[in-house]
This record gives sequence, structure tokens and C-alpha cells, in this order.
Amino acid sequence: MMIENTLTQADRNLLNEALDGFVPERVFDIHGHLHAAQFCAQDGLADHLKKNLNLSAYRRSLELLLPGRKLEGALLFPFPIRECDRGGLNAWMFSELTNQEAGSFEGLALASPGDNPETFEHGMREGTCLGLKPYHYYSGRADTMQATVEEFVPEWMWELCNRYEGILMIHLVREAGVSDPDNQEALIRLCTKYPGCKLILPHIARSFNFRTARGLKKLARLPNVYVDTSAITEAEGIRIALDLLGPERVLFGTDYPISHLRGHCATAGTTFHWFYGEEIENSQLTLVGIDSLLSLRQACEQAGIKGRDVERIFFGNAEELLLRKIPTIEAVSAQRSIDPVSLLHL
Ligand SMILES: [Zn+2]
Repeated sequence: MMIENTLTQADRNLLNEALDGFVPERVFDIHGHLHAAQFCAQDGLADHLKKNLNLSAYRRSLELLLPGRKLEGALLFPFPIRECDRGGLNAWMFSELTNQEAGSFEGLALASPGDNPETFEHGMREGTCLGLKPYHYYSGRADTMQATVEEFVPEWMWELCNRYEGILMIHLVREAGVSDPDNQEALIRLCTKYPGCKLILPHIARSFNFRTARGLKKLARLPNVYVDTSAITEAEGIRIALDLLGPERVLFGTDYPISHLRGHCATAGTTFHWFYGEEIENSQLTLVGIDSLLSLRQACEQAGIKGRDVERIFFGNAEELLLRKIPTIEAVSAQRSIDPVSLLHL
């Protein structure tokens, strides 16, 4: 797969359809990856990950996706690779972030269950590392797609994020994702035990099959649960998240460099399927990031979400989250004009 640096006329038309009158002037990307190939085993590395993707490359790519908008900042973390020097990748990425000229570009550290928690403590205490990015690859299970939350996000990660009001970015696995009962039980228990930990479930809680997003209903009463829209190319899952969590807990994200691949992910039976431009003759697929913006727009329009609420999704929610404020369940329900008791009993 290739990272696109230019747009076709068809891409530009679709992008205008997504942006005009919808995407506000200020944008914060809550989910992007930087990448340095020298810290990764080269065997089986996808083409788009064979080179370095530094902060300048990221910023240039985002200008392509968001022309005329101001990228105020981003939450960035290394792209998870199975065989890599995580310490080297983290150190490289955080040094990239210290070289920034303008904006608020913050980072999460890639973390594995076997890592020493003290490795991350200093950065989190000082506020240079805003939290952790665990990944199922590091669960130690043979079939990591079946990993339970505890197998790749052990309790020390929750404890650390709770202590420093850090962000924990958990890409759920197992077929049913956020509808999986074991995933739900673990998230409810751990989010309740560690209320200072700010949990972001990327890709609408990995609802690449939009039907699994319905499982968010079980988590809606937890005030420290958020989702991002990154790499979601169907409106339905975003709509479900908007209905269940409200626009104040849905955040715009790109999943760069995935946003700049030509592709689409579709619900398929009980699972989902990724299509890529290079694999289909005359595919006419657009960039994942453009497809995702179109889906977000459609979901907001269908849910009647506009104005200030759209601004929250693109910027305001991230600003609040990074300022380390977690709204109380009462505040969340007041914003949505609903009874907090009903939210607690969803
Ligand atoms: Zn990602």
C-alpha cells in the first residue's frame, strides 16, 4: 500500500463534499502515528511502513486532508509493529515532538505488559508523555486477535494512567469488539476502579463492523470512556456512538498513515473487510481519511448534530481531554439534556 501525497480530481470533489460547511476551522487529531523503520524488523513490514514518517511528513499529509483548516495539534504514538524496539521507537517519537515549531503535538508511549512501569513514570509525571498505547500484538498469546483486555492492558497500565490522569488508548480485539461480554466486563470494572484513567477506544471502539458499536450502550454510564472516529468509513457506527455517548465523547482522529492509503473498510456479516486500491483493478476508492470524513459528516447530519457540537468533535473535546478534565456523569447528561439516572441504567 502507498501513502498518497496527491489527490485526484475525484478525491478533491469528495473531500469538498466532506469539508464544506461541516469541518470547522480548528482541528485536533486525537489519533495519528509517527514511524521510524530502523527500529522495526523488516520482514513482512508493509510498504507504507518501510520509510520514516516524522512530524514534518505527518503535518504535510494533514494539510492535504484538511485544506484551509488549522491543525491545532495531535495526539501521536508509534505505529505498533510486532517485532520492534519499542524503547527506541518511543524515544525517537518523543524527540520528534520536542522539535515542533507550533501547535500542541503530544504523545503516548507504545507499551507492552512486560515493560517496567517506571520507564513511563517520569514522562507521565512531567507531562511530556500523556499516556499509554498498549496493543494486542504484545499480549503473549499465539492468536493475539483473541486477547482479553487484561492480557495486553495489565492493571499496572491502568494504575499509572489513573495516577497521572493519563490517556489509555485501547484498540479492542476479539470478533465482537466492544460487544464482547468479556471485553465489556473488563472495561466496566477497570474504568470504575481507575476513574482518573481516560480511556479512548479508537475506531468507534473498533467497530469496523458497525453493528458491534451497539455494545457501547453498556459503557455509556462510565464518564471516562471516549471513542475516536479514526479509519471508520461507514456512518452507521459513528451514529450509534453519537447516540449512546453524545458528541462530547466522540473525537475526530485520522489514524495517519492509514488515512492516506486508498481504501475502505466495510461491515461484512459478523466481521469486517478492508479493501485497498492496489488490490482492485480500477477501484475508484478514495483515501481512507476522506471516506472517514464523509462518514462522520453523514452520521452528524443524521443525528442532527451541528455547530458547537461539531466543533467539539473536531477540537473542543480533545482540548478538554488534554487539559486533564474528565466531566462528571451529571455534566455529560446536562449537556445532552437527559436524566443522569437513565444514563446510569443504560
Ligand atoms: Zn492507529
